[in-house]
Amino acid sequence: MITVTTASELRDVLTAERRAGGTVGFVPTMGYLHPGHASLVARAAAECDSVVASVFVNPLQFAAGEDLDTYPRDPEGDARTLEAAGGDVMFLPHEDEMYPGGRSAMLTSVAVSGLSARWEGAARPEHFAGVCTVVAKLFHLVGECRAYFGEKDWQQLAVVARMVEDLSFPVDVVGCPVVREPDGLAMSSRNVRLAPAERAAAPVVHRALRAGADLVADGEADAGAVRRAMAAVVAEVPAATVDYLEPVDPRTLEPVDRTDRPVRLIAAVQLGSVRLLDNVGAAPGGTA
Ligand code: AMP
Repeated sequence: MITVTTASELRDVLTAERRAGGTVGFVPTMGYLHPGHASLVARAAAECDSVVASVFVNPLQFAAGEDLDTYPRDPEGDARTLEAAGGDVMFLPHEDEMYPGGRSAMLTSVAVSGLSARWEGAARPEHFAGVCTVVAKLFHLVGECRAYFGEKDWQQLAVVARMVEDLSFPVDVVGCPVVREPDGLAMSSRNVRLAPAERAAAPVVHRALRAGADLVADGEADAGAVRRAMAAVVAEVPAATVDYLEPVDPRTLEPVDRTDRPVRLIAAVQLGSVRLLDNVGAAPGGTA
């Protein structure tokens, strides 16, 4: 595996790959890689001739007062993880390579309205415009590719897929299943910040989602009942604060009244300093 830090090096490597007839898989990340990220790289390696992963903590998607400066970083460890998972190129740009003149010099922003407004977008109003702007930029640098995103960030996946569709990027967006710790906690770079007692309590989010999915599978068709059942599970942990815990339409992300069809159960729960995001599919009969 090679590491490149500039857009021109990245283009050179990928141009050579394409001249040789190879297909490109792309995995955008913010680094501090764990087995969830590695699963995206491994899937890309299985389906594409060459795999690029970007490691860039994108300042545009952090609001003032969020954890941009303290976001965990480990580029050497990331290189080892990528290589072991089958990555070929790590794109590790400095901030001024992505945003010459600094982020405040960026006058262009890509925003997907509607889909970005609720849930994470309500809690973090500039977040998805920051994500879409950097992902659009990365897609331009990488070019035609299959791009792998985790279902862990279900709303992000929906927003990026819509941006690709609306703006005709030559990119196939591929969603990949959530990778979990043995106790059900969805893996996340920020989990390292959970204090031991918080880490022990954190699987409550997945337990709540599973309880909701089981109810839907058993035929509960009232979304309110499903929501209340999930909230009751999280309430077992007094330190956990629910931001949202909702049955939604899997594509539009609009809240649903009825759970008599496939839905997505989405969660954001604050535990200590960590905002835990997770989601599961649910359907009557249990086939989502
Ligand atoms: P991040 O570095 O957190 O921006 O995540 C980069 C990519 O990895 C995104 O597409 C995430 O959805 C995905 N990802 C993060 N955690 C997981 C996980 N536990 N399972 C699957 N994909 C994940």
